[in-house]
Amino acid sequence: MADKRCIIHLFRSRWGKALLAVACVALAVAVALALRSGPGGEADVSSRLLQASEGLNRYELALRLVPEEHALAISETLTCRNDTGGPLDHLVLRTWINAFRTEETSPAASEELYDACYPEGFSPGGLRLDDVMWNGERASYGYTDEAMTALRIDIPPLAPGEEGTLFLRCVETIPCCAYRTGYVGNAYQLGNVIPLLSRWENGAWRQDPYTAVGDPFLSDCANFTLTLRLPEEMGAPICTCPLTRDEDGVWQGEALAARDVALGIMPDANRATCRAGNTVIHSLAKTEAGAKRALEDARKALETYASLYGEYPYPSLTVCSADFPFGGMEYPGLIMIGESNYLDSRADTLELEVAHETAHQWFYALVGSDQVRDPWQDEAICEYAMLRYVKQRYGQGSFDTLKSFRVDAPMRESHLGALTPGSPIDYFSSLSDYAAVVYGRGAALMLALDEMLPGGVDAFLRAYAGTFAFQFATRQDFEALLNAYAAADLTPLITDYLDTAMQ
Ligand SMILES: [Zn+2]
Repeated sequence: MADKRCIIHLFRSRWGKALLAVACVALAVAVALALRSGPGGEADVSSRLLQASEGLNRYELALRLVPEEHALAISETLTCRNDTGGPLDHLVLRTWINAFRTEETSPAASEELYDACYPEGFSPGGLRLDDVMWNGERASYGYTDEAMTALRIDIPPLAPGEEGTLFLRCVETIPCCAYRTGYVGNAYQLGNVIPLLSRWENGAWRQDPYTAVGDPFLSDCANFTLTLRLPEEMGAPICTCPLTRDEDGVWQGEALAARDVALGIMPDANRATCRAGNTVIHSLAKTEAGAKRALEDARKALETYASLYGEYPYPSLTVCSADFPFGGMEYPGLIMIGESNYLDSRADTLELEVAHETAHQWFYALVGSDQVRDPWQDEAICEYAMLRYVKQRYGQGSFDTLKSFRVDAPMRESHLGALTPGSPIDYFSSLSDYAAVVYGRGAALMLALDEMLPGGVDAFLRAYAGTFAFQFATRQDFEALLNAYAAADLTPLITDYLDTAMQ
């Protein structure tokens, strides 16, 4: 066995130099393999992402879409470690699709959304569980909430630091619903369809209900490998991660250090592709012009935020038009933009929507936060980032005009009562109030910090994104980092903006 000195000695000889050259080539090949240049010209998986993926829970997903039944069959193997610090005797997975079973629990069936989301009348979705196994043995399970979105699975006590494997087999019925979970015609928008482990906090699994307003799903970063089978005529699916097709026609992909996996199937879409840094950007829309326009908007936004808040670590970003009555919806590596924004007359709106949703790739996807208790922590920051994007791209005048609509006007609205930007999501009953208070008034905090902090708030947000990348930042984490960064106690200012009603 050669010790270190022997190897150094060997390299001093002539043969040693030759061997060194061979070793260098081998090392270069190994590094190239480690960086895993993706097939189909996809960008490399960054070493930062590989590092972040170490030790995370692992999901192996085998998915099959059956369009004639509007069904998605899922086989899911989750290998998870007990990081709770004590013995663990049950898991909770979120099964959001079950909320679509009834009009009472569907987030798309609120008075505000019903007609737009269910133009042909209510269409139920839901999940049928066929197998639940833990370490190869059948496990007992049940739902803890009426909407059946919190699936409790009992397991034999798992010691701290130990791993176990959960296997689920289920079939989901996808509702006919113009929502982030649903199908319209032959297109499928498949957000929130993968049963995911909930977050463990303060000695319990989070079990927040699904609300009509906002994006209330919390999950930790994990590694996903997936296969997807679907009829060839459905075309190439889109996903959180790059997908490639093997010789049997099965789509395959891997998403490292991601909070969720979302999918879309748009058989009739026009497609456009470009590259920004290490990321390949795809755009899908009903028209070729729309696909190209959104692609360019996504490229500009990605480049702007990478320069402001740090490099985007994921290998792909897809922006697609979606048939739903929202501006947009963010998932890791996948952005859905409401179809109405693609009208020629709304090019500016499209650009702002894409800019806002792209900002979520940093503030939601990269840095997780509590969208239920502190929705401002991603929405207000993304709204501010969008304004910042406009300033960088189009100058102070455009920024001022937009700010007057998006921030100053909500600050003057008098009907919002006791609602504050720091309110939890279930305080809001309408999307318009939510947008005015959490996005608009919340962004006012960021603008105030921009005036106050040396170097502006962008330098702080860059530090925040770097500190909490792939993790979950609470409001306390945000405030502590901000106070340390400013070397001052800014808590009264934050309280003033986030927790004080303007009556
Ligand atoms: Zn948002």
